[in-house]
Amino acid sequence: MSATLLIIEDNEQNLYLMRFLLEKNGFAVISAENGREGVEKALQYKPTAILLDIQLPEMDGYAVAAELKTHAELDGTPIIAVTSYAMMGDRETILAAGATGYIEKPINPETFVAEIGRYLPKRREDKEYA
Ligand code: MN
Repeated sequence: MSATLLIIEDNEQNLYLMRFLLEKNGFAVISAENGREGVEKALQYKPTAILLDIQLPEMDGYAVAAELKTHAELDGTPIIAVTSYAMMGDRETILAAGATGYIEKPINPETFVAEIGRYLPKRREDKEYA
């Protein structure tokens, strides 16, 4: 079974690029375009990991991370914040809100999938993440 990633991102181009790179590498991708929808889909689909933009309509990334942390069934689901290089202060705040780690925007197509892989739970059948 392939890993399923939920991408919560309101920027169409970023979403397109992340989805393209992940699907090309065998991941299943679910997406949400605002924070509220992101929380709902996280609870509904229980993805392997969640990629979380910070600047989002409805609920921002900080509120989404904090909300996700209140749901025990998502314990152990990595939350990877996608933060802009210019917004260094965001990182401390999003980690404090409950994110497992962060990757930098703009997305680097050469390293993106490997960076995500570092945060995924290791399973024997997922040798490609090792
Ligand atoms: Mn955004």
